[in-house]
Amino acid sequence: MEFLTPQPNHSSTNTATTTETPPSAAPTSRYENQKRRDWNTFCQYLRNHRPPLSPSLCGGPHVLEFLRYLDQFGKTKVHHQTCPYFGMPNPPSPCPCPLRQAWGSLDALIGRLRAAYEEHGGKPETNPFGARTIRVFLREVRDFQARSRGISYEKKRKRPKQKKESRVARAEIKTLLDG
Ligand SMILES: [Zn+2]
Repeated sequence: MEFLTPQPNHSSTNTATTTETPPSAAPTSRYENQKRRDWNTFCQYLRNHRPPLSPSLCGGPHVLEFLRYLDQFGKTKVHHQTCPYFGMPNPPSPCPCPLRQAWGSLDALIGRLRAAYEEHGGKPETNPFGARTIRVFLREVRDFQARSRGISYEKKRKRPKQKKESRVARAEIKTLLDG
């Protein structure tokens, strides 16, 4: 009997290898992996919280606390309003201003955690990541970082001028080819 068992096992391993994940699924799984890591980080943060919390007891203010906690691991220079380099995208020398989480990272993180919360059984109507406080907070972070770093997070508009330029470039190439 015991000698017979490896036989079906072997054939099942064969089918497993042939049904490997195709490479086209890579971007999705990277997002899924990141989402799982973010969720684990958040749950760990809640376990270390005083008093310990569970996701179902979480509200917007707890999420804000979590985002502020993450700031210590940030890599984005955000100048104080009093810094001479406030509003300068490329300061000529270092300054003591703190490194923070970039607005774009926080925005993406909240999106992933919002999805993870509901995947773990949380109700959409009580989702703390969808709370108004979070939206307001993220907008404030975006506006301040934009001013502090002298950059714009405004969505890029269509530039008809550029289109015309590329048409000109194409025409030039055509002339080159023709000539
Ligand atoms: Zn500075």
